[in-house]
Amino acid sequence: MDEKLQQFFSSLDRSRFVDEPYKALSSLDHPLPIGYGQTISQPSLVAYMTEQLELNKKHTVLEIGTGSGYQSAFLAEFSGEVYTVERINELSKKAKKRLDSLGYKNIHYRVGDGTLGWPEHAPFDRIMVTAAPSKIPEALLDQLAPEGIMIIPVGPEGWQELLKVIKDRHGSVSERKLLDVTFVTLVDK
Ligand code: SAH
Repeated sequence: MDEKLQQFFSSLDRSRFVDEPYKALSSLDHPLPIGYGQTISQPSLVAYMTEQLELNKKHTVLEIGTGSGYQSAFLAEFSGEVYTVERINELSKKAKKRLDSLGYKNIHYRVGDGTLGWPEHAPFDRIMVTAAPSKIPEALLDQLAPEGIMIIPVGPEGWQELLKVIKDRHGSVSERKLLDVTFVTLVDK
């Protein structure tokens, strides 16, 4: 892992992103419940996904599935602007409160259907999806900029492949499988 990422990973206290009684378990490298049937991934996977996104400070990033806001903190730390979409209002509100208290001013929050992306702020240099669809939503592919990278788990409930999707400068898309993973389902209306 890159040194700056490693440093940030060690410094970010995950207990700030979960409620009792899970705070005591937050230092374990294990997924944890965040309410509403949703979970926060194990920290090592969050760090790995962040690394695979190859971020820099010039990037505008779309995140689908704000959840607790833990992954959003990584994105905000290593990119320019973060646009994060969450369907559950209460989770979005709580995440905003936590991330505001940590001082992040480059995160923009929206409550809504992430399968539609956030067209008003497209295109995005990077897209991070932290809930799994059965196939990559068309809107997200459309909203990925040329030379963009998207990290997304794709597959049926309970078992998915984590994909790295790359759009070249001419707009052609290719994908590579990174890992087998388990994420909550990306709700599709
Ligand atoms: N990255 C988060 C974990 C996200 S869990 C973290 O670090 O805590 C996946 C999240 O995706 C859940 O909060 C769930 O409510 C949200 N989600 C599921 N389907 C969605 C959709 N269609 N649009 C937006 N958010 C969605």
